[in-house]
Amino acid sequence: MTETAADPRRLVPRTDTVLADPRIAAAVRRLGRGLVKRTVIATQQRARRGEIAPDTVADAAVAALPTTATGLHPVLNATGVLLHTNLGRAPLSAAARDALALAAGTCDVELDLDTGGRGRRGAAAIDALLSAVPAAGAAHLVNNGAAALALVAGTLAAGREIVIARGELVEIGDGFRIPDLLTATGARLREVGTTNRVHPADYAEAITAETAFVLKVHPSNFTITGFTRSVGLPELAELDVPVVADIGSGLLAPHPLLPDEPDAATALAQGATLVTASGDKLLGGPQAGLLLGSPGVGVELVQRVRRHPLARAMRVDKLTLAAFEATLRGPVSPTRLALDADVTRLRARAEALAARLVAAGVEAEAIDSASTVGGGGAPGVVLPSAAVALPEEFAAMLRAGDPAVLGRLESGRCLLDLHALPPESDDALAGAVLAAERSP
Ligand SMILES: *Cc1c(COP(=O)(O)O)cnc(C)c1O
Repeated sequence: MTETAADPRRLVPRTDTVLADPRIAAAVRRLGRGLVKRTVIATQQRARRGEIAPDTVADAAVAALPTTATGLHPVLNATGVLLHTNLGRAPLSAAARDALALAAGTCDVELDLDTGGRGRRGAAAIDALLSAVPAAGAAHLVNNGAAALALVAGTLAAGREIVIARGELVEIGDGFRIPDLLTATGARLREVGTTNRVHPADYAEAITAETAFVLKVHPSNFTITGFTRSVGLPELAELDVPVVADIGSGLLAPHPLLPDEPDAATALAQGATLVTASGDKLLGGPQAGLLLGSPGVGVELVQRVRRHPLARAMRVDKLTLAAFEATLRGPVSPTRLALDADVTRLRARAEALAARLVAAGVEAEAIDSASTVGGGGAPGVVLPSAAVALPEEFAAMLRAGDPAVLGRLESGRCLLDLHALPPESDDALAGAVLAAERSP
């Protein structure tokens, strides 16, 4: 086939020409040449395939450029799952985001500005944690909850035994399992009880000179009901070995809406020697693993864990330290605000949003909804909520938007549940639905 001058593929502007467009040149300074050039080339290919007109390549490339040099997209969490692991769990407070931005430069993370000498890394974050949990005698931070548990097992139980109930051999998610995590550190598991029942005597009989500690894992992503029996921390604390409580969600003190969710203060008061937890679940902070020790033996064990060689491999970065401290010292986290949101306020927001959308010609309706804390904690707890129901086709269009919106499909409709979203995001949510409505 011979190409004629009219062949649109020959009219596609050259890469250098597109890169010289002032808007694209500005994007190169902001995003880097490689990323912008790839976007330009992809846009030229669309023109060659006839998907866009050749004279719109520069405009289309500008539209296709990301706002930042990351492939991550902001997503409004309208799922009604407060802690959505696929969406990065807890959103950070404005105070924590400011702290992140500060720490992103050079900062005194490990320097004593008074003396000019070396300071204790992360001391301010640890102090904030100890102030938030006065019952603890010592604390340490690592990269996530799984790391905290692995470091405890590796330090205290390598070549020895961890006594754990069969009903607490939990799969956390993405195929990762707590028993595998523990044995990967060189510890052996001594399983006690059955899937549904375990008694204090089962633990007592399993304890030998080989026992490093008894581990109590909170089943944070499932419930078992019926003929069940588990052994609580007060009973475990009567055994003559350290008790490690993996509470999971990182509640530091009891929460009235979640009476069955364990918290660090209560676990320590009930006799746990060590408590491990996540930073980005109900605590509402960045991904981190908390380790808290009881006064006395717990302090000694935290010191040992901190000095273990693997502690260095699990060290948190300055960004995490800054955001974690600001979460504890700053205003109430978005996760806690969402958890405590009043359902009448949620309904009022859903009605206002639906009215706005209906006025713009969208088939929308405010409805009652039910939300959950999510895999991050409080399994089985249903939180009353409110949502805007849209036709199902909106789901895919909303995911493709900017910001993307992730709703929940239910009974053939796309529900936008407001529980996990702060009221400030309602304008953005309405804007996203209207943009989806207008999209081809
Ligand atoms: C979430 C969870 C973990 C893992 O914590 P990450 O911070 O996700 O690594 C471990 N144990 C329990 C009980 C959990 O709920």
